[in-house]
Amino acid sequence: MSYIRSSALFAQAEKVIPGGVNSPVRAFKAVGGTPIFIKEAKGAYLTDEDNNEYIDYINSWGPMILGHAYQPVVDAVVEKTKKGTSFGTPTEIETQIAELAVSMVPNIEMIRFVNSGTEACMSAVRLARGYTGKDKIIKFAGCYHGHSDSFLIQAGSGAVTFGSPNSPGVTQGTAKDTLLAVYNDIDNVKQIIEANKGEIACIIIEPVAGNMGCIPPKNNFLQQLRELCTANDILLIFDEVMTGFRLAKGGAQELFNVKADIVCFGKVIGGGLPVGAFAANNEIMHYLAPIGPVYQAGTLSGNPLAMAAGLAMLQELNKDGAIYNRLAEKTEYLHKGIAEVLNQNNITHTINRVGSMISVHFAEGEVLNFETSAKGNNDTFKKFFHGMLSQGVYIAPSAFETWFITDALTYADLDKTISAVAAVAKTL
Ligand code: PMP
Repeated sequence: MSYIRSSALFAQAEKVIPGGVNSPVRAFKAVGGTPIFIKEAKGAYLTDEDNNEYIDYINSWGPMILGHAYQPVVDAVVEKTKKGTSFGTPTEIETQIAELAVSMVPNIEMIRFVNSGTEACMSAVRLARGYTGKDKIIKFAGCYHGHSDSFLIQAGSGAVTFGSPNSPGVTQGTAKDTLLAVYNDIDNVKQIIEANKGEIACIIIEPVAGNMGCIPPKNNFLQQLRELCTANDILLIFDEVMTGFRLAKGGAQELFNVKADIVCFGKVIGGGLPVGAFAANNEIMHYLAPIGPVYQAGTLSGNPLAMAAGLAMLQELNKDGAIYNRLAEKTEYLHKGIAEVLNQNNITHTINRVGSMISVHFAEGEVLNFETSAKGNNDTFKKFFHGMLSQGVYIAPSAFETWFITDALTYADLDKTISAVAAVAKTL
């Protein structure tokens, strides 16, 4: 494969954009080499500026659950665009998507739209603090909730990929209110609550972690968190930016049958346009401005194009009763195929999978928290990444990311991917 145009575009970009990218993981720093510039995508495939094609397992980091340029979403956006792109007034479509989201997701009665997952989580925590009158929050090491200050404490995803899980620029004052817990370790959470009695506003968690690779909750971890939160007047926030509308219509709450107090969304809910949202019951949401005292706002929040894309996406997911089973079956097929090939080649690995989220950890034994994920062999991952790329398969350029399976993937695509792993495994 030749990457002449991508390399030239990157050199040009580096002069005017820090690192040549608008979000760090895209820069390939963790795996070496220079990033590939994509010019278009359709279904399960990406085409780069040098006309190379790839089966895509990033899928814009999650939103494209039905594949790229999905016709009903494209049509909805095109039609809306003709009528003006933003008014800064209420529009009917905001209520339509709100009604649909509230009907699909359990335990929520009201939803507020924002422009990113970061905003959703940041606002959810502010709301939890406003509602409870308490300052401290618990987050889990390796979980990523966007780049707002309170969360850049042992964050996963790009923050850990670049070795700065605690970013300079976050003040000590902010950091002291974020208490760090170990994922899947309920005793650890209990100890933290004991040591900070009456001071904790909320626990925020990725109900299936996707930012330290994919890590499922083990041994009723979510149920136990629910009980602890209820017993201690702490709000439980599910950051469903990745899992929302992906693991089930009702996300992780539905899949694991656990009730969260506040739920954050992003990615799928915007159908590929910049949308985030947070939601809760009426009582909690009534704390938000303009009816309540907790301030939160946005010039482009509820933007008509973004709402049109999101509404079309949710409508498709809502009407297709078989989609989540289909996605899980495809993911299981991929899991088995990859495991078989890696085993044949004696490559140490652990594959974690929930629904349509999957990741290959080049680590020995169970991967159940950040510490065990970080033990993965990064040299093997780098070789694997570049090998897969040269085989025409695009996975995320960091070992700490999950792969996203889309419904556009055919079994032929999955077979091609497994064959690519077989070819690459020989070189690891
Ligand atoms: N929460 C989770 C679980 C995420 O995976 C991400 C982004 N990958 C975010 C929050 C932040 O979302 P955004 O990048 O849209 O700000």
